[in-house]
Amino acid sequence: MAESPYFPDGMPVPLPDQLTADFWEGCAARELRIQRCASCGTHRHVPAPICRACQSFEYTWDVSNGTGRIFSYIVVHHSVHPATDAIVPYNVSVIELDDCGGVLVTSNVVDCSNDDLYVGMPVRVVWEQVDDSLSLYRFTRAGG
Ligand SMILES: [Zn+2]
Repeated sequence: MAESPYFPDGMPVPLPDQLTADFWEGCAARELRIQRCASCGTHRHVPAPICRACQSFEYTWDVSNGTGRIFSYIVVHHSVHPATDAIVPYNVSVIELDDCGGVLVTSNVVDCSNDDLYVGMPVRVVWEQVDDSLSLYRFTRAGG
């Protein structure tokens, strides 16, 4: 588990809506839930109302094991929100999950210097408890 918040107080947090409520409820339970089409089995993230492969509106949720690799990342040097003034530079990383069809999820890699990040770096999910009803998924370097 991430020991401390990646972003300081004042950073806006996600606001679940009808499409994303199940995803965020999963996060609260420390489950990285990924939508899967109930018709053709294609995974998708972010949650969407329709399958891009077969146009079905039916879906279920799979729970990822939370391991993956850095697909891409950027290091943000210019603060775009007052809450990030004190922590730039920080990374925004796109993670390709090992399961769930290799969907891409966007997050941050924590407990790792930005200089040590590289495309292909193995990572695993860690959870940051924001409050009683919200946990955020971050990633940290995995062995190997
Ligand atoms: Zn489908």
